[in-house]
Amino acid sequence: MISKDTEFMLKKSISFHGHQCPGLAMGIRVSQVALRELGKPSKDEEMVAIVENNSCGVDAIQALVGCTFGKGNLIFNDFGKYVYTFMNRETNRSLRISIKKEAVITDKRHLELFTRVKEKTASQDEIGEFKQLHIKKSNEILNLPEEDLLIIKEVIPEPLPMALIHESVECVRCGESAMETRIRLLNGEPHCIPCFNELTETV
Ligand SMILES: [Zn+2]
Ligand SMILES: [Zn+2]
Repeated sequence: MISKDTEFMLKKSISFHGHQCPGLAMGIRVSQVALRELGKPSKDEEMVAIVENNSCGVDAIQALVGCTFGKGNLIFNDFGKYVYTFMNRETNRSLRISIKKEAVITDKRHLELFTRVKEKTASQDEIGEFKQLHIKKSNEILNLPEEDLLIIKEVIPEPLPMALIHESVECVRCGESAMETRIRLLNGEPHCIPCFNELTETV
């Protein structure tokens, strides 16, 4: 059922993320659209992803589209929404992709087991059943027609600065260095954020 391409992407994503799950499958589908519409995986910062959640799917985006935390071309807006915006800086095109709510897990049994597995109260049998449902849902997502899963809109690209390299400044309290933009001054002396917070916290 799954194409060779998708199978390859699934393997690549699992090796990065650690397991197969519905969230990862969503991330794969989103990544496929980004790559098809906007171009090749990002080696540097030519592609930028703005993600509005930090769950499993974002790992597929990092592994497949090359928008990663470390390169600075993965921007996290903590809105708790299944929305992903991709921007190609070279072609100046941008897409906003959101997941239709019908595609999210709604199976009661699945959700119930999910909670129990997380709380570590599930029996061996329940864990087995959960894994089966999880893989089944994941495969369903990989096989759904795109229009049943995603809403894709062309949007105007946001002006985003390239990731900057900043100088390091040593904190006078702990002696560790921090990026100059993160240094806080206390009585005119440079402090890293944790030291600054400890010294200024009012107990
Ligand atoms: Zn996962
Ligand atoms: Zn410090």
